[in-house]
Amino acid sequence: MKNLFSIWFFLLAVIASPVKSSESYHIEHLEPPFWWANMTESGLQLMVHGKNISSLDPELIYPGIKIIQVHRLSNPNYLFIDLFLSKETMPGKFEIIFTKKGQIKTKYIYSLLKRDRGSAFRKGFSQEDVIYLITPDRYANGDRNNDSVPSLKEKLNQNNKDGRHGGDLQGIIDRLDYIEKMGFTQIWLNPVLENDQHTFSYHGYSTTDYYNIDERFGTNELYKELSEIANSKGIGIIMDLILNHIGSEHWLMYDLPSSDWINHNGEFVQTSHIHESIYDPYIPQFEKDLFTSGWFVETMPDLNQSNQFLANYLIQLSIWWVEYAKLAGFRIDTYPYINKDFLTIWSKRIAREYPNFNFCGEAWNNNPSMVAYWQKGSKPYDGYISYIPSMKDFPLQKALVQGLMSEEKWDSGIGDIYRVLANDYQYGDPYNLLVFAGNHDMQRIYSQLSENMDLYKMAMSFILTTRGIPQIYYGTEIAMTSTRDHGELRKDFPGGWAGDKIDAFNGIKLSGEQREAQNFMRELLNWRKSSSAIGKGSLVHYPVKNGVYVYFRLYGNNLVMVMLNNNKRLIRIDPGRFNEVLGEKNQGISVLDNRVYDLTSKINLSGKSALILEID
Ligand code: CA
Repeated sequence: MKNLFSIWFFLLAVIASPVKSSESYHIEHLEPPFWWANMTESGLQLMVHGKNISSLDPELIYPGIKIIQVHRLSNPNYLFIDLFLSKETMPGKFEIIFTKKGQIKTKYIYSLLKRDRGSAFRKGFSQEDVIYLITPDRYANGDRNNDSVPSLKEKLNQNNKDGRHGGDLQGIIDRLDYIEKMGFTQIWLNPVLENDQHTFSYHGYSTTDYYNIDERFGTNELYKELSEIANSKGIGIIMDLILNHIGSEHWLMYDLPSSDWINHNGEFVQTSHIHESIYDPYIPQFEKDLFTSGWFVETMPDLNQSNQFLANYLIQLSIWWVEYAKLAGFRIDTYPYINKDFLTIWSKRIAREYPNFNFCGEAWNNNPSMVAYWQKGSKPYDGYISYIPSMKDFPLQKALVQGLMSEEKWDSGIGDIYRVLANDYQYGDPYNLLVFAGNHDMQRIYSQLSENMDLYKMAMSFILTTRGIPQIYYGTEIAMTSTRDHGELRKDFPGGWAGDKIDAFNGIKLSGEQREAQNFMRELLNWRKSSSAIGKGSLVHYPVKNGVYVYFRLYGNNLVMVMLNNNKRLIRIDPGRFNEVLGEKNQGISVLDNRVYDLTSKINLSGKSALILEID
């Protein structure tokens, strides 16, 4: 009875309290939560969220910082505070006080941190790198305590191919030695920001909090630690960022600053997914708009980046993560779906803040002109200006698989690769494209190539030696197979879970094929690191003849020759055809087996094989 009474009194107290609570204010979000002194851009816009917070006036006193303007939107639960930070502002902490009629109602201690030495001029990923793409939920479980957490909806279910499997940042930290020894120099993780969706949350593409790492992967501090340890091994971290949409469970969706933060006023209208809409000269305006303003799917509300406050919010959170987590790059999801005027502003600002940084957009289209459109330095038909240095090379991926899998004829076979690369004139910088044979959205490349080890080696030889920055999806190095099902193609990496019978990290119980693939990749990746022709060189290639594609990479005196024979039969190649590039050089050494090849006579190239020669 006593307990019942106390509950009753408690309830009475709660009911009786509204007069008092209307005068108490609580900041639920203040973002960015901290910032850095001495950034190139002197402006900073703070978004403050809390019940009726707009009825308060913010004030602060700190040398070098001024409040320029305070914005109040239709939702009284937000304040946007424009700050000016002079170049002389020193790192430190200060109070932002929020007052009403001269009385302090609440406050926030804001930190202005000191930037790392060289932060502004950090080097981004480049052709000298190879990027290892990891789906963090599916790679290695380094901490079983975070497999399910009380505060997040979806719990561990390793038996469900679309469920959470428990992989995390600690698992990756624990495997950095493996990644380093394999020869990868960059890690791109599928999104690791909080994804508190009911289902399919493991893939990470429905952000529910832009400033926090998903607890099931770890913490912000652990993400930074991963980056620092990786950096000490010469490995950079590339963050996968989604600016097009948020998850339907994002906290913003429960209290939008204004209804126009989400396209179609927060109502689900699906995008057409017709990429051509952007470039098509004949398309009606409604159809054109539908592509970018429609939602990707119902659980991914589409952000309206033409809203200035949202635009600032997205720009600042991007910079915040570069600075906080010491990033080497971004990969931006669904790039053409994003408001393109915003992308110009966003990419310009990132490039201005970090002139040597690299970031890459995903435009999943097999037409080179529709990928080139977005890259910095390209000259698109409508004069669109972009500052994004890199794009993913989908056309080349398609041509590679199609070329290797089709019959050698005048208009099919390996000539597909040659023909697509001949479109490179459209790119601002083709050497800065991300090249890949497979990724996290496609059937595993080994399966796409009918589980044929010869074709696999040809594909990997090509990806690791052609122009551009190679990206390898985790598991490709052990020739993992899959169906087209998304849960299947993101299978757990063997050895990442306690009790796994097969352990690819330590080479335990791998099949003959898996071992062959892994050794092949390790050798090629580590050789690649030492080759300046591959890391910095230009590409010269020859039109395909008799089903054989031959190309060179050149950098100063360093020359690499690659030959791909897509016939089933052996072909004898006359190096005389390549005199213009070879000049006086008469000898090449195979990078995989150190065999010496005489370039003054014909070279035997087995059917379905690749030969990579270093020429001195
Ligand atoms: Ca875990």
